[in-house]
Amino acid sequence: MSEVYDVAVIGSGPGGYVAAIRAAQLGANVACIEKGPLGGTCLNRGCIPTKALLEASHVVAAAKHAEPFGLTFAEPEVDYAKMVERKDAVVGRLNKGIASLFKKNKITHVAGTGKLVAADEIEVTSAEGETTTVKAKKIIIATGSEPLNIPVFAFDGELILSSTGILDQTELPESLLVLGGGYIGCEFACFYAEMGVAVTIVEMMDRCLPLGDADVSKEITKALKKLKVKIHTGTKLEKLEKADGKVVGTLSDGKTVEAAKALISVGRKFNTDGLGLEDVGVEIGENKGIVINEHCQTNVPTIYAIGDVTGKVLLAHLASRMGIVAAEHAMGENVAIDYRVVPACVFTHPEAADVGLTEAAAKEQGIDAKAFTFPLQVLGRAQALGELGGFIKLVGDAKTGELIGAQIVCSRAGEMIAEMALAMQLEATVDEVAKTIHTHPTLGEGTMEAAEGWLGHGIHYS
Ligand code: FAD
Repeated sequence: MSEVYDVAVIGSGPGGYVAAIRAAQLGANVACIEKGPLGGTCLNRGCIPTKALLEASHVVAAAKHAEPFGLTFAEPEVDYAKMVERKDAVVGRLNKGIASLFKKNKITHVAGTGKLVAADEIEVTSAEGETTTVKAKKIIIATGSEPLNIPVFAFDGELILSSTGILDQTELPESLLVLGGGYIGCEFACFYAEMGVAVTIVEMMDRCLPLGDADVSKEITKALKKLKVKIHTGTKLEKLEKADGKVVGTLSDGKTVEAAKALISVGRKFNTDGLGLEDVGVEIGENKGIVINEHCQTNVPTIYAIGDVTGKVLLAHLASRMGIVAAEHAMGENVAIDYRVVPACVFTHPEAADVGLTEAAAKEQGIDAKAFTFPLQVLGRAQALGELGGFIKLVGDAKTGELIGAQIVCSRAGEMIAEMALAMQLEATVDEVAKTIHTHPTLGEGTMEAAEGWLGHGIHYS
């Protein structure tokens, strides 16, 4: 009889590979089924390649704007092929890292596409079409998501690109039409604009980054406009035609936008197709994600689902946390997922990071919320860095003084938001943030100053 694993994971993204490792740490005999390269969207076509490229464009931007520091450089010479090579090398090293973690934790990597055939059985079809069966006491589905392909703007891999297709390009286009001003659209817009590409964003909602704080959106829009990105908000792309090797978009206000390429970044489709979910009775929700409880368990008790495929917040670190919860619960621990503290960052230049509630969202929930915004240019470090835009906004519950949200815009907001996430996790009050001694001179001091300001006794700004 073939081996029965304690846990089998389908998908090796930041949800799946973390779940596999955590289950193995708890003594499980684990198999991880993956149809593509290890690391999933995040490592191969998401977080990591985009950040590797963005780091390069930030260097270009720094060289272009070094004059106030007393430095002038010639116009940077861009070797895009080398940038792509570096991005691929970064991804490759991390791919190998996951493979070696699997080896260290004695996790069996089964290459192929998994399909549930029973509540404890997965049929795996290899790239060559051979099938094998993986039997497991517990199964964790971590199949992630992929770019939403809208038939009227269908990806063609040449002129009309998804976030995956654009990463495969070997040359920079002269111009780029970005449909969708969410975080993926804004990050790509920032990268290409810093590289000198003429970028136009078309966003249906009334602002870019429409789901977050309005001031954050304003600041990032300002930064993108400074990079000469043209932004059409409250505007629909009605039509996208190909002509003479270019794309021509017709907007709802009648204007047309011509560009060498188009990036369509308007949403993600959860990878549930072909998984055999209906056959084993796993429930799919109205949002088309797999329905789970607080233990990341589906309605079939031996089957868990984590990460993007559940249609919660589509972020790598949430997928990883869900992976840990699912693995621990599958191994008999009583753990639950908590969505209260999920930080996020838009890696534009400057970055925009947030955690918890915005002031508006808190008020909508009936919380007596109070916000205070501290402009970073007040800080010595910001002046030394030449970083004069950006702010830290803290949102606290006016009744209890508890910190319930934070939004940060600055060059390293993604790093700085971690402190606010920890404070929220520990249910800290704004007063406790204010009383925490911060290193001087750092941008991090801004959180302490913002907290002091919130309390009404800001030293440098009130
Ligand atoms: P995925 O990473 O999508 O992994 C799913 C895996 O399952 C894939 O490897 C897939 O091949 C495999 N799979 C699917 N079906 C099967 C099957 N039937 N059998 C076997 N294997 C299967 N998030 C952040 O937190 N920070 C960022 O900066 C960030 N940047 C992003 C930038 C871009 C351009 C994109 C597209 C996404 C970005 N994300 C970012 C989102 C992040 O990538 C996802 O939230 C994260 O990858 C979700 O992890 P996951 O494990 O749920 O799924």
